[in-house]
Amino acid sequence: MPLSGAHVDRGDGRTPDQRGFANVLTVDVEEYFHPNAMDAAVDPSRWNALPSRVEHNTHRILDLLSEHDVRATFFVLGWVAERLPRLVVEIARRGHEIACHGYAHRLVYRLGPERFRDDVARGKRILEDCIGSRIAGFRAASCSIIGTTLWALDILIEEGFEYDSSIFPVHHDIYGIPGFHRFAVRLRRAAGEIVEIPLSTVRLLGRNWPVAGGGYLRIFPYWITRLSVQRLNRREHAPAIVYVHPWELDTDQPRLPAGALSRFRHYTNLRRTESRLRRLLGEFTFAPIRDAIHCDDVAVETPAP
Ligand SMILES: [Zn+2]
Repeated sequence: MPLSGAHVDRGDGRTPDQRGFANVLTVDVEEYFHPNAMDAAVDPSRWNALPSRVEHNTHRILDLLSEHDVRATFFVLGWVAERLPRLVVEIARRGHEIACHGYAHRLVYRLGPERFRDDVARGKRILEDCIGSRIAGFRAASCSIIGTTLWALDILIEEGFEYDSSIFPVHHDIYGIPGFHRFAVRLRRAAGEIVEIPLSTVRLLGRNWPVAGGGYLRIFPYWITRLSVQRLNRREHAPAIVYVHPWELDTDQPRLPAGALSRFRHYTNLRRTESRLRRLLGEFTFAPIRDAIHCDDVAVETPAP
């Protein structure tokens, strides 16, 4: 499958081969109480009363990226942008790409088409007002564009998005379309076209395994992440799509009374996130989606034979 990875000129005078493949780093900017795994523990009506930690934690990521001279794509939640427009302005000022994570972090399959459109349009409008330019990219809460919610792609096209990065081609209880394309693909939908940039997987023992983001980055040993990114780059000539959340660096965040599985996914190895991110940034080349994946060049999906 043709891929649209690009070598990014970091201005360091080295040739593209020496610089290596440009992977993608994405940051989903939200509070520690926003993940849907916390829905049962904290009702959204209580969000305003909880201490905010997202600005400080996002600044830690921004400083880490500045140290390594790396630019990333930040999918910012509208709820956060509405309260902290200065944070969105600061992310953009440092040269990162601003993209949309919806407004209220609701699962697409719980919202339905009408409420999904309202949520997306509201989040996009707030972000565009913050930075004064158009937002091209979207990521759904908990990657909740699944087999039964592909209508969401039509709504994203109609709302003016160029790309979506919400589909995880894996089996999971909250998200995932196991048989979906593993790499960037242009989808032809009733409403038009949109580029889908799936989250990273490696193929092993006949199935896709999620790698290089969120809990997978924290819970698997680092060597698995490194090997997976190398394999994607060298064998499949594709960029890894790495994702992190500001709360994943925050070991002191208030512990919420979620179920055992949610607590495991949310709190395991928070103390390792920063060092692992630092190692990734040191060992691989990263760029924002807008620079690493040229949407205009992404091949159109071909029907399965
Ligand atoms: Zn999120």
